[in-house]
Amino acid sequence: MTGPRSSLPGTHVIGHAPCFGDPDFAVADDRWKTGQELVAICEPLLYVCGGCLYRAACIRQVLPAKSGFTGICGGRIWLNGAIVHALPEADSSELPRPVIRKSCGTAAGSRAHRRAVEQQCPRCQPFYRPGPNPLEDEDQEVAQQLELPEVP
Ligand code: SF4
Ligand SMILES: [Zn+2]
Repeated sequence: MTGPRSSLPGTHVIGHAPCFGDPDFAVADDRWKTGQELVAICEPLLYVCGGCLYRAACIRQVLPAKSGFTGICGGRIWLNGAIVHALPEADSSELPRPVIRKSCGTAAGSRAHRRAVEQQCPRCQPFYRPGPNPLEDEDQEVAQQLELPEVP
């Protein structure tokens, strides 16, 4: 994970992790405004998670979805608790184990797992569909802004 951010001071999990104490993993809040900018800063560092043995432990400790984490954790780039970019080898088995809910076994149950950014339970797995990436909303906002008529 990126380490200290204002909302999550000192979140490095494991002293042996390759990112431990690396100041480049701590992205200051004033270095980015949009999710695209955040990804541009974090993506060059993400390869470090590729060789890290602690990806699952990292996510278990930080619980990025619950804590609304923003930064690098467990081979993923998170924005307010949502995954906006991930290593190609990032595997869903690294996410927290699924909470079993009444809705399990339905599309709604699958969406509940997805929103909690946890593994799909076996009954929900057939209903799994990838969710929207928050960065796509940013793209649409930019596109809408570009479509605004010019003020004479
Ligand atoms: S998975 Fe990435 S962010 Fe987490 S401890 Fe390993 S290198 Fe650091
Ligand atoms: Zn389920």
